[in-house]
Amino acid sequence: MRLILIGPPGVGKGTQAAMLEARLGVRPLSSGVIFRAEIDADTDLGRLANSYIKRGELVPNGVTIEMMGKRIRSEEVRKQGFVLDGFPRTVRQAEALDAMLEEMNMPLDKAVSIEVTDEVLLQRLSGRMGCTKCGEIYHSITKPPKREGICDKCNSPLFVRSDDLPETIRERLRVFQENTTPVREHYRAKGMLFVVNGADEPEDVYSQIVNGAKG
Ligand SMILES: [Zn+2]
Repeated sequence: MRLILIGPPGVGKGTQAAMLEARLGVRPLSSGVIFRAEIDADTDLGRLANSYIKRGELVPNGVTIEMMGKRIRSEEVRKQGFVLDGFPRTVRQAEALDAMLEEMNMPLDKAVSIEVTDEVLLQRLSGRMGCTKCGEIYHSITKPPKREGICDKCNSPLFVRSDDLPETIRERLRVFQENTTPVREHYRAKGMLFVVNGADEPEDVYSQIVNGAKG
């Protein structure tokens, strides 16, 4: 199975990629994880990518394509298939990916767009609180602390990260939509876009993805 997962932060892409790996052996290729691995291993590509990241700049298309291409061409990914997360982020990256897969004779099955309303995402993301001391993460609805505002483990005060404030989340979602719409449209035009409902339970989302990938 060869898939791209497109979806905003908090929609559960990581959960789905992990389920696909555990049940079908499909290799999860998250651009964030791959970038960090290259940087940690201090490869030429990793150093190059890091030079942009350190300056707060976007890693250029060419570097990103080369880094992801290295994994996509690996023996195990050829055998097991892949589920991409965080790549392609631009139409240029999508075109480079399409060309690479065509050359390898490994066509993509689907680009899966996991979609959910901003309100649902805000609910999921905005209740998060972290411990100032031990780093334990809580959630006002799904994992509340026993005493309000206090860590169960170490009794330290809890705080809301600036990333988890509703206005920051809204801005992240706006940027996500703006950046990913051209990629979604690219695959829609090729008849390869498949939309699943991210508000459903993870098991249901998983079934939709697996069934959609076959069709
Ligand atoms: Zn704590």
